[in-house]
Amino acid sequence: MYDKFNRRINYLRISVTDRCNLRCTYCMPECGIKLLDHNLIISYEEIVEVVKASVAMGVDKVRITGGEPLVRKGIVDLVRMIAGIPGINDLGMTTNGILLKKYAADLKAAGLTRVNVSLDTLNPEKFHEITRLGNIDQVLEGIAEAQRVKLCPVKINCVIQKSSQEPDALVVAEYCKQNNLQIRYIRQMDLNLGHYSMVEGGEGGDCSICNRLRLTSDGKIKPCLFNNLEYSIRDLGVQGALNMALRHKPKCGSVNTMGTFYNIGG
Ligand code: SAM
Ligand code: SF4
Repeated sequence: MYDKFNRRINYLRISVTDRCNLRCTYCMPECGIKLLDHNLIISYEEIVEVVKASVAMGVDKVRITGGEPLVRKGIVDLVRMIAGIPGINDLGMTTNGILLKKYAADLKAAGLTRVNVSLDTLNPEKFHEITRLGNIDQVLEGIAEAQRVKLCPVKINCVIQKSSQEPDALVVAEYCKQNNLQIRYIRQMDLNLGHYSMVEGGEGGDCSICNRLRLTSDGKIKPCLFNNLEYSIRDLGVQGALNMALRHKPKCGSVNTMGTFYNIGG
């Protein structure tokens, strides 16, 4: 499918939950967030319906994100359901890695192609400071397990303040080099203030080549992370919401005053 700016849209990112087992300072307040009612959270049946309709329109690449996707019950079953939909060439997941050691083999067997794991520092104390709750050893073990079961390529998402030359980013880069991992640097953003930028080593944030639609954990299709537009699959139907999102996908991002990374999916 093509939008009105002739961008080919073939990538759907799905936030399967607003819940998380960490509280990264740049993503969530320390006290946590007001969680969605369980009955508002998108069901696996709804997700599958959206993926099928998207694939029929030309999507061939899907990423599962959150919140933390691995805290959602039955996530391996969801991966299996999506992987079984003909037409998907690439099924990835973005995770904080805390539960990855436990799930990597099952995810691979269920049909997940690859994972991106978030890691901003290799310093255990600093990691705990940034994530407020996390133990870095669990993430490193998760990354190793993902590589062992060949969820490849394993990519590392590293949030930076301004530059990939910051000390923590340099250490993470060296770790990636030694462990055959690809690294992507994401500048810390503020959606409310319209502060966003391109992902270094990735494709995100470059509006001219944006190929994405997003499905939020409460069942809305968003044409752009950096914009308030969203179309509810419950109000408009799956096809109606997809059509509206495609039709209204903005030429470039502006501000998003309604959502944040944890419910839209970064
Ligand atoms: N919980 C998973 C994780 O952390 O990888 C998946 C969801 S998280 C919202 C997806 C990505 O968004 C992560 O790589 C995270 O570092 C990034 N992210 C979250 N808040 C951000 C912010 N304010 N600016 C830039 N990236 C952010
Ligand atoms: Fe959770 Fe990911 Fe947000 Fe950190 S960035 S609080 S791990 S959703």
